[in-house]
Amino acid sequence: MITVMKFGGTSVGSAEALTRVANIVANTEGEKVVVVSAMSGITNYLVGLAENPVTDIDGVVEQFANKHLIEAGQLFEGEAMDEFRAEFDERLVAFREAVLSDREDPLYKDNVTSQGERFSSLMLAHVLRGMGYRSEAITSEAAGICAEGHPQAGSADLVKTASGMTMRVKPLLAMGCIPIVTGFYGANHEGKPLTFGRGGSDYSAAVVANAIDADVLEIWTDVDGFMSADPRMVKGAIKIDEMNFGEAAELAYFGAKVLHPRTIEPVRLKHIPLKVRNSFRPEEPGTLIHHLRRSKNELLRSVAAKTDLSIITISSAEIAYRPAMVARIINAIAEIDVIIYSISTSLSTVAFLVHNNDVKLTLRQLNGLNGGDIERIDVKNDVALICAVGDDLLDKCGVSGDIFSAVKDAGANVEMISEGASDVSLNFVVPMSKVVDVVRILHDKYIGSGAQ
Ligand code: ASP
Ligand code: MG
Repeated sequence: MITVMKFGGTSVGSAEALTRVANIVANTEGEKVVVVSAMSGITNYLVGLAENPVTDIDGVVEQFANKHLIEAGQLFEGEAMDEFRAEFDERLVAFREAVLSDREDPLYKDNVTSQGERFSSLMLAHVLRGMGYRSEAITSEAAGICAEGHPQAGSADLVKTASGMTMRVKPLLAMGCIPIVTGFYGANHEGKPLTFGRGGSDYSAAVVANAIDADVLEIWTDVDGFMSADPRMVKGAIKIDEMNFGEAAELAYFGAKVLHPRTIEPVRLKHIPLKVRNSFRPEEPGTLIHHLRRSKNELLRSVAAKTDLSIITISSAEIAYRPAMVARIINAIAEIDVIIYSISTSLSTVAFLVHNNDVKLTLRQLNGLNGGDIERIDVKNDVALICAVGDDLLDKCGVSGDIFSAVKDAGANVEMISEGASDVSLNFVVPMSKVVDVVRILHDKYIGSGAQ
């Protein structure tokens, strides 16, 4: 039995938290591989470092070291501290080199921001050693996690990572050692750190689970699991005990903030069950995500909302018959890295859903497209995308009609619909002023009051 366990920044953010985590690891049966984030606040600090000129490198190194040593001072003493310091100081030299390296290198920021995990992993490995376990802190490079793609937006090469980890990490397990692996990044084809995007340690852990064919992946965070709605919007929101990969992927994508959206795919591919657990309340069972097919006649699992969005509608005669033009518009938006949350088309319009903050940039870009073709651009600000998630939702006859009539009861006008893009979610847009009412009505009707 192999368990991959991932701990986030708050779970490794203090001496007390690290001790709690070490106990959770120690109490887990079988072989385990641990993946960690940087201590909370560290990655933000490193982003600041990477983005601003460094004038006093000694001061920076000292400040960075102290952020860790204050906690380490409460965890180690005597010989244990000496052993820890030896490895710590080695990594500190590498940290200094990273900060002083060529800022023009496209991977400079990746190199600097990925430093935090090297230190949190070291701290946890030494806490476990202090408890009498064999444990080793291993960087992603040494573990064989291979990454490819653009700076700060890498993806793992699952095949290469599997062979790398089989060679380098599996033997450690066989020796009874608990490897503590750095999350957040992998090594590119030149061996340079390439990060997976902010919050990417969850994804790292899923990649590790995939690579070593783990039996289960546990993501330990600071909440009890996925909720049936945002508890700030719905008082009666309940924790979800079980759901399937598709539902979890939709909810994570919709900003449930529990799990990085990319965590699902590497484990789904190998049918590895994923548990979301609370490291501050290990007695709670959390949310189990697996290949669940529901037996009960539940309609909805959760109602999520993405707020502060705008609809940009582009009008042009018979645009539906001019796919090249639609492609040009989409490419223009892709060029400026604006996320499109939904698209819908009609004979003479294409409508996009983007974040309120991206509207100006998008309009500037669209206006720059060579003229004549676009007749008009309209913007509707302050809308929200509601995502109703439930397994096989769209296979159930009449469901959308039912849901929309509930939305009507909230007095809300549906501005845009994207049914069918995924068979576990029904997504539609309502004005911001109605979002809380709509979420509450749907939750009360299908989840809150006796439906579960
Ligand atoms: N430490 C990285 C970040 O803050 C990765 C992670 O925490 O998942 O984005
Ligand atoms: Mg996180």
